[in-house]
Amino acid sequence: MQTILLSLFFSLAPAKTDSVYICNSSRAYAYHAYFCHGLNRCTHGVSKVSRAEAIRMRKTACKICY
Ligand SMILES: [Zn+2]
Repeated sequence: MQTILLSLFFSLAPAKTDSVYICNSSRAYAYHAYFCHGLNRCTHGVSKVSRAEAIRMRKTACKICY
């Protein structure tokens, strides 16, 4: 829990520019570091967003590529 709050805090910093990939499906639960095979299962298209945005959408880090 503390880790999540800490990463939320850091993701709000304006210098943070790292991007992640998310599936546009409502069933998607994870964000990805790059096009891993978890994203290949996605049939709704993929969006590139900031990690902060992904966390705001309640996505969690992919277990495959993170
Ligand atoms: Zn992944």
